Amino acid sequence: MALAELIHAVDDFVPSKALLIVAHPDDIDFGAAGTVATLTDHGVEVVYGLVTSGQAGEPAHLSPAELTEIRQKEQTDAAAIVGVTELHWLGFPDGHLVADLELRKALARLIRVVRPDLVITHSPVRNLERIYAAHPDHLATGEAAVAAVYPDARNGHSFPELLTEGHAPHAVPRLWLMTGYENNLHVEIGDTIDRKIEALLAHHSQNSDRAEMLPIMIRDWAADNAAAAGLGERLVESFKVVHTE
Ligand SMILES: [Zn+2]
Repeated sequence: MALAELIHAVDDFVPSKALLIVAHPDDIDFGAAGTVATLTDHGVEVVYGLVTSGQAGEPAHLSPAELTEIRQKEQTDAAAIVGVTELHWLGFPDGHLVADLELRKALARLIRVVRPDLVITHSPVRNLERIYAAHPDHLATGEAAVAAVYPDARNGHSFPELLTEGHAPHAVPRLWLMTGYENNLHVEIGDTIDRKIEALLAHHSQNSDRAEMLPIMIRDWAADNAAAAGLGERLVESFKVVHTE
């Protein structure tokens, strides 16, 4: 099936290069790995940008340096399962993110380097119905990523030092936000959900104790998303599309 038929939205935009910007390893795999696999299956180039390396995660007895090494390896393995080989690690401190000018500049630089026509990121708005998805690092990353798409990456005056570094301005025409509400774009993942689950299970350090329930939970979420969108028996990941052209 053509990619355009798998993306249910009010317009017919189909990306050619997508950049995912998230706070932690495994955020992409929970929110969008089925979509990533659907995109890469259809020849869309997908690149990951990870603001932290998850060095404040589990298990607590490991040092931040040990967790960084483990979690970067797990995310790299998970990315390969859904067709992604280019990952950028921005090295910010896990658990301490704020949407300040330093983070905005780092994300504007990444956007200018990757030059995508779609950015997928966290919602900057706290959803009080889903408090785990509204981790403070997610909100900070979403806020900084939206600001990096508009105006920072496209405005040469935003961070003049990026021009000095050789990074020309770049305008991204679409944002897809992982919000959990007000969703208006739904990507079919029926053919890719097994790889999404495999990618999630590649995060052994985080998910090994829920290997049995996780596939059931992920299938339930995807079915619930489709039902909420009026898409019947399909499996989908849902986003809020923001026009930024
Ligand atoms: Zn996270």
